[in-house]
Amino acid sequence: MNTIPAQYPFYRIKEKELLYDIGLLRDSLTENWGNFVMGYSFKTNSLPWLLSYLRTQGFYAEVVSAEEYGLAHRLGYPGRNIIYNGPIKDKKIFEAVLIAGGYVNLDSSQELTWMEELSALYPAREFSAGLRVNCDIASLCPGEELVEAEGGRFGYCFENGVLEAAIKRLSALPNVKVAGLHLHSSTQSRTVQVYGALAGMAVRIAQEYGLSLAYVDMGGGYFGGRSDKPDYRDYFKEICRVLGTYFDREQTTLIAEPGVSLISRATTFETQVLDVKDIRGRKFIVTDGSRVNLNPLVTRHVYPHHIEYCSDKNIRPKEGSQWICGATCMEYDRLFELVDDAALIPGDKIIYDTAGGYTMCLNPLFIHYFPAVIIEKEDGSFFTARAPWGNDEFLQKNYW
Ligand SMILES: *Cc1c(COP(=O)(O)O)cnc(C)c1O
Repeated sequence: MNTIPAQYPFYRIKEKELLYDIGLLRDSLTENWGNFVMGYSFKTNSLPWLLSYLRTQGFYAEVVSAEEYGLAHRLGYPGRNIIYNGPIKDKKIFEAVLIAGGYVNLDSSQELTWMEELSALYPAREFSAGLRVNCDIASLCPGEELVEAEGGRFGYCFENGVLEAAIKRLSALPNVKVAGLHLHSSTQSRTVQVYGALAGMAVRIAQEYGLSLAYVDMGGGYFGGRSDKPDYRDYFKEICRVLGTYFDREQTTLIAEPGVSLISRATTFETQVLDVKDIRGRKFIVTDGSRVNLNPLVTRHVYPHHIEYCSDKNIRPKEGSQWICGATCMEYDRLFELVDDAALIPGDKIIYDTAGGYTMCLNPLFIHYFPAVIIEKEDGSFFTARAPWGNDEFLQKNYW
């Protein structure tokens, strides 16, 4: 199809931009390490088209729930191409991924017990397990802005010996090897320096506990698609510089499992002006998109955007203030104020840039349902990856 088949509002994914960021990741890993696995964090955006596309691009599925694991399976990811993370695992899936030769990064007390049970149940098999590391980023990188002031809550704590105890418990099993360390830690500031420090932790832990690691998983949490911020080239140069001081590139696979950094450049959220309201001297611009489509918890106040005018903007009168409002019928649903600019009219398009990476799927079914997702293919044609949800989808599995 050559014209956009969408009903407004909709999310757009530009394949060309997506391929650009995939290429950037692949090239950075190839040049700096060579022996690597690219995972994609399903939770970031689990649009089935995207998951299937990334599989064909060679990505593994990074999953953190039974649902995500089932989705990966249904979309054709083989069991050995699964990276199973998170503190709330399902015991059956935990076993299935280990037996299939996929990656499992342990993150809870009970998983250590499961590993002992599995080891006893299959004495003739060899198992490889990874451990998620929790270390004190605030003291490793003073000045780094954390997501939570109290520090991270995932993984086994390095400083108080809980990690060491977990390593000892697994190492005591005759057919289990501590094969990997997982160091996903998202910070607000996402600096290159924090990734260097995390890579340094992998080196330190492997050295101190005498581990010969088959892999180091550096997680996600990178910036991507922003010219004012670092990108994969900067992160992996630093990560590999540090890992290279100790690990052998042939022996140890580097895993990256990005989410939003891979897709934000490629995604936009596109809305249109439906009406202009004049209320006691104020102009309210009614649009069909909403803050909840971009930021479900409605905590953000900045929404990068551009406007496509449906007629010459230069011959329009100017308005001192126009408030761009959303479609939810909530007073707080106001996106931004246009100051001293051409008057908007119905039919103008407001396009939010680098928007929707997370929220395409993390979108509340509030007043309106999931908007459409349109893929702009490399050749300029369009493909509907998700038709907008209607009441058929909303009513499924409901009874009255
Ligand atoms: C969320 C998550 C990611 C991806 O994070 P982004 O910030 O989207 O890159 C990767 N790994 C794990 C374990 C995660 O929880």
